[in-house]
Amino acid sequence: NPTAEKFEYQAEVSRLMDLIVHSLYSNKEVFLRELVSNASDALDKLRFLSVTEPELLRDAVDLDIRIQSDKDNGIITITDSGIGMTRQELVDCLGTIAQSGTAKFLKALKDSKDVGSDSNLIGQFGVGFYSAFLVSDRVVVSTKSVKSDKQYVWEGEANNSSYTIREETDPEKLLQRGTRLTLYLKREDKDFAHPERIQNLVKNYSQFVCFPIYTWQEKGFTKEVEVDEDPAEAKKEGDDAKTEKKKKTKTVVERYWDWELTNETKPLWLRNPKDVTTEEYNEFYKKTFNEYLEPLACSHFTTEGEVEFRSILFVPAMTPMGRDDIINPKTRNIRLYVKRVFISDDFDGELFPRYLSFVKGVVDSNDLPLNVSREILQESRIVRIMRKRLVRKTFDMILGISMSENRDDYDKFWENFGKNLKLGCIEDKENHKRIAPLLRFFSSQSEQELISLDEYVENMKPEQKDIYYIAADNLTSAKNTPFLERLLEKDYEVLFLVEPIDEVAIQNLKSYKEKNFVDISKEDLDLGDKNEDREKEMKQEYGKTCDWIKKRLGDKVASVQISNRLSTSPCVLVSGKFGWSANMERLMKAQTL
Ligand code: ADP
Ligand code: MG
Repeated sequence: NPTAEKFEYQAEVSRLMDLIVHSLYSNKEVFLRELVSNASDALDKLRFLSVTEPELLRDAVDLDIRIQSDKDNGIITITDSGIGMTRQELVDCLGTIAQSGTAKFLKALKDSKDVGSDSNLIGQFGVGFYSAFLVSDRVVVSTKSVKSDKQYVWEGEANNSSYTIREETDPEKLLQRGTRLTLYLKREDKDFAHPERIQNLVKNYSQFVCFPIYTWQEKGFTKEVEVDEDPAEAKKEGDDAKTEKKKKTKTVVERYWDWELTNETKPLWLRNPKDVTTEEYNEFYKKTFNEYLEPLACSHFTTEGEVEFRSILFVPAMTPMGRDDIINPKTRNIRLYVKRVFISDDFDGELFPRYLSFVKGVVDSNDLPLNVSREILQESRIVRIMRKRLVRKTFDMILGISMSENRDDYDKFWENFGKNLKLGCIEDKENHKRIAPLLRFFSSQSEQELISLDEYVENMKPEQKDIYYIAADNLTSAKNTPFLERLLEKDYEVLFLVEPIDEVAIQNLKSYKEKNFVDISKEDLDLGDKNEDREKEMKQEYGKTCDWIKKRLGDKVASVQISNRLSTSPCVLVSGKFGWSANMERLMKAQTL
């Protein structure tokens, strides 16, 4: 075209395009997310402007995004009816790196030593418009700004440091307003133009963009048509059939192409929780997370003020099939959206602590940049605040299950995720107050049903100061330990810690409602009933026996003492005050073997 003007890219853009073209990126498919999000931004901008300038919308074109693909020729067109670009904007926006996200990406590339292999960088950052060149040899942008009467065409090629801009002259290509991107796919990427592939990508990445996204899809309907019967067939059927003039019907499939709405325009989390039914939440949960069981609990909330985000969280009814590792932070359980554009579900403890990685849900933030990276997530103050709120909401949700009239619900929860909460005692001191009331244990007075610490405290004797526990391999050995004797005599309840993690969890908690946890197998157990005269007497009577036993056992024991802790057993092995309990000793042995 003789009227096309040639431009050189800003140096950084050239470098970026070079990298895109010459590096093998595993997740090229993010190009569609980037381009759709640009289209959505353009529509957002127009919608915003039209609030004060309603005449901008006078050409009553709907605000939408349309994606058409031609798989035979490997062409994809993405058309939006948004704000469009002027000639100058084409130069500024598509020829230079104005936006900070792409600049950050370049910096990250520079910092990362092994550029070629770090194929995830693009997925994390997004490189905006230029990601079109991940899959295209040539990109044509035809655009008409609401501020201009003319439509311009920007054209760029991979492997070329210049691009051209000309005026659109083909009357068939004129737009009322907005932008049409035409991607001429690289030979090896032509598959992206398959309508079904496009549909899946839109569903996956842009499902909840606020504007309708239509994709051009082949459809079919069946219809019955009458056909004359083959005369030879009729003859075969014999005399009875001969008299009727036979017509046969045949089912044929009629094929045609049409626009199909491919996204849900109003995401569930944007709706008012009052207007959403439990069924809708359950449906959303099952659809989004491929679950077949309904969740145990759900929490839908909006936070405002310092940080603004919306979220729906779920507690699943069971752990994933076949796995019993309690901490698997890479569960893809949390889907992060920024302004309704899906960003990532690949987190490693940024939004939830590891021990709560079983929680599923969506989080939609207005405060994070669209091209938020793992790095940004880890350092962001906004994310830290979000995390705090999400964790709090999660505890509220679990507390809700524990207070449910249906006791089964919490039993189910505890069976699946009790270990996670115990891990929380160890890893999250800040939330001890929230975790402790949710813990459950068996006890000397409740061997069949788990009790809460609140139930324990309520059942304490008036003079009892501490919460007693014994750690053991299982309920039977806990029940039969001689350490229990005196406590049972006094009718004190003792918690049975029978899971390996229990003891460490309790030791981390240290106390509950200002009552210390006390291990009844430790040396200095004081039940507050010392009788010094009697102890003196005993010492005189049995002191020599103790010395003799100590001599015989030598280094196998630290000391042999007279104790008032037993009522029927003659003797017991106890742990030193600062030593490991017998149970811990067993655990440590098991670990070092
Ligand atoms: P970002 O979207 O982060 O600003 P991009 O590289 O994705 O960066 O896009 C660069 C700029 O190009 C955008 O900021 C916008 O001004 C312009 N642009 C891209 N696509 C469109 C579009 N479909 N309609 C209008 N402007 C667009
Ligand atoms: Mg963009």
